[in-house]
Amino acid sequence: MKYRIGLGYDLHRLVPGRKLVLGGVSVPGRLGLAGHSDADVLVHALIDAILGAAGEGDIGRTFPNDDPAYAGARSTDLLEAVMTKVRRKRLEIVHADTVIVAEKPAVAPLVAAMKKILCPILGVSRDGLGIKGKTNEGVGIIGKSKAIACWAVVLAREPGTGRGPKKKAAESSVGKIPRPVSGKKQADI
Ligand SMILES: [Zn+2]
Repeated sequence: MKYRIGLGYDLHRLVPGRKLVLGGVSVPGRLGLAGHSDADVLVHALIDAILGAAGEGDIGRTFPNDDPAYAGARSTDLLEAVMTKVRRKRLEIVHADTVIVAEKPAVAPLVAAMKKILCPILGVSRDGLGIKGKTNEGVGIIGKSKAIACWAVVLAREPGTGRGPKKKAAESSVGKIPRPVSGKKQADI
């Protein structure tokens, strides 16, 4: 059994005239997160953590933010696409934990609805995904309610690997020169 971890972080600005979507849940209010997609900061941080665990780079490489195909995209759809990719690599999520840093909205009342959407996509039980909210104590851009940030950490495993030809195949990829990536690979979606 081989375990892998991944860390993800994301931040989006809060602006008027945008719908606020957090963890796949639409949150009523005057401000929403700016972005090329629906700007779901929690899902983006999760995606980056999963891609990190899978050794697949970052969200900007998988879903370039200058690709019209992802304009207004639902981030939960992107998460499903990432999970399909990850499962093809025979990886499964063991556990994920997240921290949403926001002055508002309060995260706790949204957690059950978020888990109902995200846990089936990740393939984990309700206690296999942690979602916690923190304010920034009024400090900085987040504290002034001009942005929301999120951290995510993911533990994944490759069941039944570690011996035999599969390990050999994995080792043979070490040292390969990665193919060049076009576009703004570090840009966020
Ligand atoms: Zn994002």
